[in-house]
Amino acid sequence: IEFDLKPEELESYLDDYVVKQNEAKAVLATKICTHYNRMKLDRDDESFKGGFVGNIKNNIMLIGPTGVGKTYLVKLIAERIGVPFVKGDATKFSETGYVGGDVEDLVRELVREADGNIEKAQYGIIYIDEIDKIASSRNTVGPDVSHTGVQRNLLKMMEETDVDLKSPNDLTSQMESMMQFQRSGKVERKKVNTRNILFIVSGAFGGLDEIIQRRLNRNRVGFRTEEDRVESESGTLSDLRSEDLIEFGFESEFIGRLPVVASLDPLTAEDLFAILKNPNCSVTVGKKRDFKAYGIDLSFEDDALLLMAERAAQELTGARSLVSVSERALLKFEKRLPSTDIRSLVVTRDLVEDPAGSLAHLLESHQVKDFVGRFEEAYEIVLDFEPAALALLVEQAKEEGITVDALSGRVFDDYGHGLKLLGHDRFTIKREAVESPKAFLDALVKNFYNKS
Ligand code: ADP
Repeated sequence: IEFDLKPEELESYLDDYVVKQNEAKAVLATKICTHYNRMKLDRDDESFKGGFVGNIKNNIMLIGPTGVGKTYLVKLIAERIGVPFVKGDATKFSETGYVGGDVEDLVRELVREADGNIEKAQYGIIYIDEIDKIASSRNTVGPDVSHTGVQRNLLKMMEETDVDLKSPNDLTSQMESMMQFQRSGKVERKKVNTRNILFIVSGAFGGLDEIIQRRLNRNRVGFRTEEDRVESESGTLSDLRSEDLIEFGFESEFIGRLPVVASLDPLTAEDLFAILKNPNCSVTVGKKRDFKAYGIDLSFEDDALLLMAERAAQELTGARSLVSVSERALLKFEKRLPSTDIRSLVVTRDLVEDPAGSLAHLLESHQVKDFVGRFEEAYEIVLDFEPAALALLVEQAKEEGITVDALSGRVFDDYGHGLKLLGHDRFTIKREAVESPKAFLDALVKNFYNKS
């Protein structure tokens, strides 16, 4: 691999994409940069080559709730550096017999990610989520064998081991080897060494803060003042020590292989808003692209983004809920607009609040668009329609079997001169005006002269 990045360069790259999480950005950028720069050193500098001293791999543990950017950060870094990346889920590792098989599958997947290039796979990143689920249960009597078993298997991989490219559980690959053996009389064993593979594990670690708090309180016994208690209540992840993770249910050897820990903060509504406003935001950019695929230009007003952020914040799945909130607002439009000749859509707060109503109103307004344009050209007056007025107009046009455009021209025949006389340059058509246009205009004129 060619690698010449410095931690701060990588960190500022992350800043372009990820909102908040400064601690995690700094830790990941630094440790991952060092990992790859050191590999270069090991390769290029004879005096360090193959040495066992000082060869501690900086595997990293990320702690934080779901949807706050853990995977995103690691993925961005892997992409930037150009190394293969795979994500696994610790809950998938089976609790019995061939536990190791599962863990090793991730290494094989890394080879697939690297298009079969074993050399490249050996410099990849394996990210394992939900690592807190393989902590041994604190409520059982005696050791929780299945979970400590998984930890040990993982531990072996994090240190160094050779993984057979052919899975013992994969029938196809076993048959391939057999056929190869029949053909050539020997089996070629391809192995992947995990020495330089970087492992990043993460989890929400619910209850960990209480463990930390209890320890802090214990240490203060006898000297506790009111002030201390207040302090200890807020004493959380920043006070984390290995012993807390051991109490949480991890083997000390396992924790020992994860010397670097960073925590990520939950995202508030303001953070989610900042994410939506980011020009690299996958939700807004993705939606714009979806609509552009039909030739429709999509844009978002800030008020709309703010409401989406507030709604997403209530769902407590971090930035993940932004996707579902935006789908809920826009799905109906994505279905309907491509069959119309509407070629632009501005997402407003109203639209997010009432997508169905907004769509109906948009479609109806679209039908009077030409009329409104002609009206403005002729009289220099901009017409707006109240939703109820439009709905009635559309209904009447349907009954008469003519277009809304034609009906509007007839119904508001006198309005141009009338409104001009009254000095309007913008006028909102109400439902009453559609119900009895002449009477409405007469009243308007009469009112005007009575007043003046
Ligand atoms: P998790 O923390 O559970 O791994 P992810 O990193 O997969 O969550 O987040 C899901 C998606 O939400 C990401 O792909 C990204 O688009 C968005 N996202 C999450 N956190 C942030 C953040 N802090 N800044 C910008 N986008 C974010």
